Amino acid sequence: MTDSYKYKGLRKELINILRGKGIKDENVLNAILEVPRHYFFEYSFVDYAYQDKPFPIGAGQTISQPYTVAFQTELLNVKKGDKILEVGTGSGYQACILLKLGANVHTVERIKSLYLKAKNFLPSIGCYMKLFYGDGYKGLPAYAPFDKILVTAGAPYIPDDLLKQLKPGGIMVIPIGDSSKYQIMTRIKKISDTEFHKEEFGAFSFVPLLKDKSNE
Ligand code: SAH
Repeated sequence: MTDSYKYKGLRKELINILRGKGIKDENVLNAILEVPRHYFFEYSFVDYAYQDKPFPIGAGQTISQPYTVAFQTELLNVKKGDKILEVGTGSGYQACILLKLGANVHTVERIKSLYLKAKNFLPSIGCYMKLFYGDGYKGLPAYAPFDKILVTAGAPYIPDDLLKQLKPGGIMVIPIGDSSKYQIMTRIKKISDTEFHKEEFGAFSFVPLLKDKSNE
């Protein structure tokens, strides 16, 4: 896997597109500039890596659209040293963006083939994080609490276990909705163990957050 001026140039163009769509956080834009998205694509599809579109990664899942990655990451307001739980590792791209922002990343994936692929691949491009195979609805109780939680699949409701695993003062970003077509991007701030503040940021389209583990 190699990077090149061609791909760096394409990433700069992508950053301009994201700016044009309203992404303002320079740290987020810089992380997207630094992480070669084409590394997460099969060789024959690398030319699709810098379009602002989601793309299939196998097992019926997708790498999120760059705009969606930027939007969710901006909402999360990542600070250096934040302990973050990502639900839905997928390709590992979003997790690498969080890592570039200086976070201590924990990520969980329910499809074994994707978990194993990410676990083998990410260290080879210098992305070191804690990867788990399991059900993101349950979070990672043994590693809680987290400063931030980012859910990258569409959830029919806000999982209670995830709210519990957020620190007071912590932030969760999660697309919520029953519809298979779209979900509402939602940010939850945990004020205290019993008090939450919820904000909504419009419709996005995600693959669903699924309940039971499959045997893929
Ligand atoms: N963050 C990913 C996007 C992957 S798409 C990336 O950057 O590539 C969403 C992922 O969530 C899929 O890989 C899907 O398998 C996973 N997923 C769905 N339900 C899940 C659950 N209950 N627990 C953990 N992961 C889940």
